[in-house]
Amino acid sequence: MNKVLGHEHVQHTFAQALQQGRLHHAWLLYGVKGIGKASVAAQLAALFLCEQPSQGQACGQCHQCAMLYAGSHPDFSKVSLLYDTKKKKFNRDINIAQTREALDFLALTGLKSQKRVLMIDDANLMNNQAANALLKGLEEPTEGSLLLIVCHDLTRLPATIRSRCMLQACSPLNPEQMQQVLQAQGFDEKLLPLATELGQGSLGRIEVLQEDSQAKALLVWQGLVENLAHSDIGRIQQWLDSHVKNIPHDLIASVVLLAAQKQAIELTSWQQSDALFVAMQAVAKWPKEVMMHTLRPVPALLSYILQLRGALKSR
Ligand SMILES: [Zn+2]
Repeated sequence: MNKVLGHEHVQHTFAQALQQGRLHHAWLLYGVKGIGKASVAAQLAALFLCEQPSQGQACGQCHQCAMLYAGSHPDFSKVSLLYDTKKKKFNRDINIAQTREALDFLALTGLKSQKRVLMIDDANLMNNQAANALLKGLEEPTEGSLLLIVCHDLTRLPATIRSRCMLQACSPLNPEQMQQVLQAQGFDEKLLPLATELGQGSLGRIEVLQEDSQAKALLVWQGLVENLAHSDIGRIQQWLDSHVKNIPHDLIASVVLLAAQKQAIELTSWQQSDALFVAMQAVAKWPKEVMMHTLRPVPALLSYILQLRGALKSR
């Protein structure tokens, strides 16, 4: 298994505790979405189950490692948001039935030396009942059990759960780490600067760029808004008409905001800066407004871009 970049401190702390025989039974990894927390948790599970770990890493070759990587380890279980095949979408939350089933798995008493790992991904999506059920499991841990909780928003978890876990903060990747990971994934070199900027340390945020056509479209978009003061509104509208449905709105807005930020440095008067700032705020809010259906996406963004252009043009 490849090393996960950027969260070495979590692996180090875990490995040390494991080696010293004082491993806490529940670990809570938190940080923004898409930065590799679940991958780190998977590595911790491997390290915990591995027969011959060395230097704080699972060996990747023993029977335990092999079963885990093949997804068939009988002592590893994972809870995450379920996909509803009838409704063809993911459930809204992680429910109590899932949580109870998972805790039963964790509590199954096998041999005394038996280890069991339960991973809960997207724990911030547990509903109240599910969280209460989990709390019980945290209060009465079974010997040899390890609970790995992955959470994108710590405030969504009850304090009673947080206080019973070993908290581990995971930070967004820094630009160099982002580039390293993207390069390792075989990312198009032309896209690297844009992807690194847009990602803001989260690979999950730019998942859509893995798709070649979407990535190319965003590069075109970057070119269209690069010089906002002289931008071609007709072409901008055309681009939006064809892509607003299939490219995440926060990425569309981010490209505009990055361009505006770069040009804002050149502004000299207070009035211009203020007008630009107001327009930038509108662009930043645009994805949410569209989601709430309070406005039509293309005309709204066009009007904000015109405001930006106006502010920059009068330089
Ligand atoms: Zn191993």
